[in-house]
Amino acid sequence: MKGIVFAGNRQVEMRKFADPTPGPGEVVLEIKASGMCGSDLKFYRAPAGEGLRALGFKGDEPRIAGHEPCGVVVAVGSGVNPRQAWVGQRAMVHHYRGCGACPHCSTGWQQLCVDGVAEVYGVTGHGAHAAYMKCPASTLVTLRDELSFSTGAAIACGTGTAWGALQRLGLTGDQTLAIFGQGPVGLSATQLASAMGARVIALDVSEERLARARAFGAAETINPADTDVVAAIRQLTRGLGAHASLDASSSSQARRQSVQCVRTWGKACFVGEGGDVTLDVSPDLLRRQVTLIGSWTFSTVGQSACADFVAERGIDVDALFTHRWRLDQAEEAYRVFDAQSGGKGVFLM
Ligand SMILES: [Zn+2]
Ligand SMILES: [Zn+2]
Repeated sequence: MKGIVFAGNRQVEMRKFADPTPGPGEVVLEIKASGMCGSDLKFYRAPAGEGLRALGFKGDEPRIAGHEPCGVVVAVGSGVNPRQAWVGQRAMVHHYRGCGACPHCSTGWQQLCVDGVAEVYGVTGHGAHAAYMKCPASTLVTLRDELSFSTGAAIACGTGTAWGALQRLGLTGDQTLAIFGQGPVGLSATQLASAMGARVIALDVSEERLARARAFGAAETINPADTDVVAAIRQLTRGLGAHASLDASSSSQARRQSVQCVRTWGKACFVGEGGDVTLDVSPDLLRRQVTLIGSWTFSTVGQSACADFVAERGIDVDALFTHRWRLDQAEEAYRVFDAQSGGKGVFLM
């Protein structure tokens, strides 16, 4: 089969790989949809291997990209519980493999494995920008019939990551949430938080993305390029500040503002990858009893709960996708995504 590889410095290559066969405890999925996630741009843009190191992963061999896998199980290895995986099962992949037995792996958080995550699919293990993908049966999350494969792909990272962060924040419908960055994760957070009843203040430097945020439920939008962000959020909240904030931008300035814009006893959550932040600890955090949270994606249980919420509230996750591509259009697909002004892209097989 053919698979898409990030060769470094914005080079995308289609290379030949052997068709995968499942080992004990494993399955092979025929990929139907493979999403493009903002964090892929880190690997796409960097020299070969450097994106991995910047995000704390090891590995040199080029792997098939794509960490939002969704498809149908076509082969099952030995020793797989038939209630966990079966041929014909519609499934998303929780895109990590750990030891499978430690306290984190056994609660569905294989990315937090005490031995270190063994593979991140699409990053250090072969991902879903290909016809087939192999993974442990324990990483599958069944996709409900009412959800499309592309919706499943989005939940497999971007939308699920937004869900995980909102859970970490303990967001409730009576709260105001400021969301910094309206790329695929930030826009998903806008969509989900609005559906939960929260009042969303969406921020982005792109007017195009702010318009999409309004269409996805944001009550207010702010362009930080021409606004004192913290003052504007205070003004929209009777001088108090937001109950909570979410940074999906990875900008160090936005991260600092996302901490400063919450009210006393408020919570700020960082979900954007890479980079750093400088905080003036006493005024920004201590003096206002602010809780600062880091959130890395979600568990298999969280992924399933996110899918249930989306299905049962009729949330149009597919509306996130402004671009649908074939695998042989990958070069153009990543060039368009790299501009970071449009929405999300997905490869459909
Ligand atoms: Zn483990
Ligand atoms: Zn991702």
